[in-house]
Amino acid sequence: MISLGEFEISRVEEIVLDEDTGLFQHWNDTILQKHHDWMAPNFYNEERKVFYSTIQTWILKTPDKTIVIDTSGGNDKDRPLSPRFHKLQTNFVEKLKGVGIEPDKVDMVILTHLHVDHVGWNTRLEGDRWVPMFPNAQYVLTAKELETRDPKRGGASRPPGAWNTYYDSIQPILDAGLARVVEGAETLLPGIQLVPIPGHAPGQAGVQVRSGGREAFFIADVMHNPIQIYYPDWNSKFCEDQDVARETRAKVLKHAADEGALILPGHFGPPHCGYVRRTASGYAFEPSSVLP
Ligand SMILES: [Zn+2]
Repeated sequence: MISLGEFEISRVEEIVLDEDTGLFQHWNDTILQKHHDWMAPNFYNEERKVFYSTIQTWILKTPDKTIVIDTSGGNDKDRPLSPRFHKLQTNFVEKLKGVGIEPDKVDMVILTHLHVDHVGWNTRLEGDRWVPMFPNAQYVLTAKELETRDPKRGGASRPPGAWNTYYDSIQPILDAGLARVVEGAETLLPGIQLVPIPGHAPGQAGVQVRSGGREAFFIADVMHNPIQIYYPDWNSKFCEDQDVARETRAKVLKHAADEGALILPGHFGPPHCGYVRRTASGYAFEPSSVLP
């Protein structure tokens, strides 16, 4: 658990995936040799020649509120286009309870974007119905993401298999009246600000948290692996708008370095978060010495 002023930050891990090195177009052996010492074993597996991608949910506690940031892949979901998330059966809920989180006592769920690996535990299967996993929470999501994924709007151009995520994990939240749809930057609670960080997903939002003179910045999928701190122009193959993703990454890195903010991305390997430090030629990653 990481303390940040009056806030506490922790995490619950759903699964750890092998990520093919094709994630980054420009990855090669020369770059591996240069960065090998810090990348293995936490961010790169030498034996299998893959990156790691942690699928996880961040937990932010204020003195009186419990906030969940992104909800991983979820159990029982039909994912014909995302086999790695198809019909998962994990003990995620037990893990949540293990860190003292009772789903019906969660006050807010912030969805940075609506990709398959970020919204799954929004709901759970009850009989043949998808019901909210956090029935007393306000689910915060951006209008842009909603418009982009809704099969009747922006999502219409996507294959029907991609609509499942919307129908089983977003629609039930809207139907239950639990959604708080946000247009742009917005203060969610004192010290907790939602900020646009588009590119990887058109309506992606980050969560900036300030307390005790320190900042923590949940940056979602602005980066998938800390190697991108050294090569800020590298997008992942999952980034939807490549130019905007690069612009956003440059801004986030500058901000994190200027402010000394703790960055908490969606998928980094252990310790899952850290700092961006300036070097003579660019930036370097300093992993957090405290585990979330
Ligand atoms: Zn992701």
